Amino acid sequence: MTDYRAISMWHDTAGDDFSPRPSLGGPTDVDVAVVGAGYTGLWTAYYLKKADPSLRVAVVEREVAGFGGSGRHGGWCSARFATPREKMEAVADRQGVIDMQRAMFDTVYEVGRVVESEGIECDFHLGGNLVFATNRAQIGTVRDKVLNERTWGFGEEDFRLLGSDEAREYVPVEGALGAIYCPHSARVHPTKLARGLARVVEAQGVPIYESTPALDITRGGVDTPAGRMKAEVVVRATESYTVDLPGMRRSLVPVYSLMIATEPLGDEVWRELGWTSHATWADARHLIIYAARTADGRIALGGRGTPYHLGSRIDAAYEQDPAVFAMLKNVLGGLLPAAAAARVSHTWGGPVAIPRDWTTSTGYDRAAGLAWADGYVGNGVSTTNLAGRTLADLITGADTALTKLSWVNHRSRRWEPEPLRWLGVNLATKMMVSADRVEVRTGRRSNRAALTQRLIGR
Ligand SMILES: Cc1cc2nc3c(=O)[nH]c(=O)nc-3n(C[C@H](O)[C@H](O)[C@H](O)COP(=O)(O)OP(=O)(O)OC[C@H]3O[C@@H](n4cnc5c(N)ncnc54)[C@H](O)[C@@H]3O)c2cc1C
Repeated sequence: MTDYRAISMWHDTAGDDFSPRPSLGGPTDVDVAVVGAGYTGLWTAYYLKKADPSLRVAVVEREVAGFGGSGRHGGWCSARFATPREKMEAVADRQGVIDMQRAMFDTVYEVGRVVESEGIECDFHLGGNLVFATNRAQIGTVRDKVLNERTWGFGEEDFRLLGSDEAREYVPVEGALGAIYCPHSARVHPTKLARGLARVVEAQGVPIYESTPALDITRGGVDTPAGRMKAEVVVRATESYTVDLPGMRRSLVPVYSLMIATEPLGDEVWRELGWTSHATWADARHLIIYAARTADGRIALGGRGTPYHLGSRIDAAYEQDPAVFAMLKNVLGGLLPAAAAARVSHTWGGPVAIPRDWTTSTGYDRAAGLAWADGYVGNGVSTTNLAGRTLADLITGADTALTKLSWVNHRSRRWEPEPLRWLGVNLATKMMVSADRVEVRTGRRSNRAALTQRLIGR
């Protein structure tokens, strides 16, 4: 039997024994079949039942609820939408781009409201988010970002440029020259949120069949080893794992993001660190890193850098990469010297899903009876909630502000066949590493990063 507690520090500390729920016993018939018990599937089921308690909704999950990214992430419930604004302009007018960002701000508070009203204990804390500049090139980047926010009409109340001292009051990042602060952001315990939400959805009358893989999704239902689950609507909520479904190999690229967590640091270390806030944070390097302080006093730090695997393969073996863990430990010691000696108690990872045009989407094809939401890249924690509310509106036929948002019904083109995507994605990673090195060395912004972004369509 799989030891689900070993998946990540979050699984280990969720206070859950992960005993699998019963699997599907045989053919069945529902109104809405949801494939995948991560946040997308669970939020969709939750809002569908809120909208129409008489709907017969069921979830099939290959492993256990919260097995995927929803149980492994960096703890950021932020207002970030993965698609860059300039890319959004390809699918939306100016107001559409602004509406999307405002919807993301609201979503963070919506998650907080549901967590509180449903009594989901998941260490949700509205502490804001910071992006630090730790060299001269990065300070140029963060200043430009804030100026860019102003051109979209987002003011100080949404994105504030902080000087070095003010930024370091939130988190004492070594060498910080400044930061962008966004208050619309929370820290959350990933697995506790996923498992808590699963219990709430079950209490609404939605069965979650675990250890039940969808073998195929076709019009009118889902095929499983126990037979077909017939359904008027099927919601595909499988994010990176979508690539394993028939015909979907090139729909998304799964790129692994890996994490380390320290053991709980004692009060003395926290005092020495001078890190008093619970803001989540990153710096403005190109090869992304992200950090959070957990409710039990650990530092959780993640980053990219492990190679993409030929054929979009997903495998538990790819969740461990000693070179990336060593890099993350170095980053930790460099940015927070007082934590350099902290013991790393957990290492883990998981795939994030990248659409070819970096445009996250949700939608419902009524004629085909198929709904979906995916391609969150590394920003799905709040976006999945927005997807769940939007899908519930689309499926029940409600015409709302959410169903008019610009990401709705967008279709990304497929990725190139192999070995082209292997070459492209891995070259892009190397170029980002090299761009960061150049920026540290020269203090000037590297044009390699912009070039790479064009290469991979970002
Ligand atoms: C290491 C890491 C760090 C991240 N950090 C952040 C962060 O800090 N903030 C943020 O916003 N986002 C972050 N993300 C991204 C975020 O976790 C995801 O975008 C989000 O959880 C996606 O939710 P989901 O429900 O769509 O997918 P998932 O949580 O992956 O759920 C999909 C589910 O579908 C199931 N499934 C797959 N195939 C089948 C099948 N054939 N049949 C039945 N079930 C199936 C899987 O077992 C899984 O449980 C991170 C991701 C990773 C991996």
